[in-house]
Amino acid sequence: MLDCAIIGGGPAGLTAGLYATRGGLKRVVMFEMGMPGGQITQSSEIENYPGFYEHGKTGMDFMDTWQEQCFAFGLVHEMKKVIGVAKTGDHFTVTFEGGDSVEAMSVIVGTGSTPKRTGIKGESELWGKGVSTCATCDGFFYKGKSVIVLGGGDTALEEAHYLSNICEKVILVHRRDSFRASPSTVERVERTANIEIITDTVIEEIVGDMMGVTGVTLKNLKTEESRQLEVPGVFIFAGHTVNNEVLKEESGAFICEMNEWGQVVVDLSMKTSLEGLYAVGDMRIQAPKQVVSAAGDGAVAALQVISYIQERA
Ligand code: FAD
Ligand code: NAP
Repeated sequence: MLDCAIIGGGPAGLTAGLYATRGGLKRVVMFEMGMPGGQITQSSEIENYPGFYEHGKTGMDFMDTWQEQCFAFGLVHEMKKVIGVAKTGDHFTVTFEGGDSVEAMSVIVGTGSTPKRTGIKGESELWGKGVSTCATCDGFFYKGKSVIVLGGGDTALEEAHYLSNICEKVILVHRRDSFRASPSTVERVERTANIEIITDTVIEEIVGDMMGVTGVTLKNLKTEESRQLEVPGVFIFAGHTVNNEVLKEESGAFICEMNEWGQVVVDLSMKTSLEGLYAVGDMRIQAPKQVVSAAGDGAVAALQVISYIQERA
């Protein structure tokens, strides 16, 4: 029986492992289906993690230094894909692809969320090289420049507004002429002088070179006219898929409370509605979707787990 099973080896899961083992838990295993590091390893540069300020270092370089530290105190990594978590009595069963399983007294789940891709030509090739899904992460790279924001939901409009404080101009491109975003957010964006709103329009292609994005081709769906714009950055906000499958029962119901967007409901201790189960990082409600906050969540949850296990010893 494990003291704690950690699911997901991104910044949240790794930090949970570091705090749990360094805090004295003996049997802690992190189940990560790939190499540990999480989605930040896709980033070409990170400059907003305090204490790490090296120009030109990629997300991969950044996470490389986490591994040795997080595994130094006894955390074990098993490269396994978790397909389910169930609680029976006072313990959990974590089931893996292939059918085997392990039992654990507590579970910390940090499987992240995945920004939806649009399939626009050039999007995949230039992902992380001028195509971004995170204004907080990458907005600063476009200080004083013009950027495109794609989408008509709350995220796109809120992020367009955030970018308008950094960039010279934000061009918001939406495929319809009405927005999903709340009316107050739409009004705020419409009132912002340096945001240009282009509706009924799609991005046909994102173009670039070895250095990254150089521009886009836009197509107006009503007039069918196409035009090119030169921009160094394209922010795509087409929604997120929360990686919450591991918390789903066969019936389709979740083992703990979720909100309407599939994010795990937690309190300030990262406790879910199911005792002994904690959720951390990008998959939880109101996640800022940043490495620093994911790591913070991992630490908070691990400290809670230590008390939880001690109380049951
Ligand atoms: P993730 O990093 O998503 O890690 C989840 C892990 O769980 C993954 O490794 C995944 O393989 C694993 N997993 C998922 N399902 C299973 C399963 N069923 N079984 C086993 N393992 C599973 N943040 C910043 O602070 N600054 C930045 O500059 C920045 N730039 C970014 C640039 C890009 C291109 C991207 C994509 C993100 C960026 N972010 C940045 C956001 C940051 O990466 C995330 O907020 C952070 O990684 C979230 O950490 P997490 O541990 O919650 O989840
Ligand atoms: P969303 O509401 O699903 O919006 C995604 C947007 O992307 C939509 O406008 C959609 O266009 C567009 N889109 C999707 N695929 C596209 C494609 N292939 N090409 C072009 N455009 C595409 O996602 P979200 O904005 O991330 O919000 C998710 C949920 O979180 C929502 O319920 C939202 O209200 C909520 N949220 C709330 C707040 C808040 O309350 N402050 C903040 C952020 C998010 P269409 O509109 O044409 O479908």
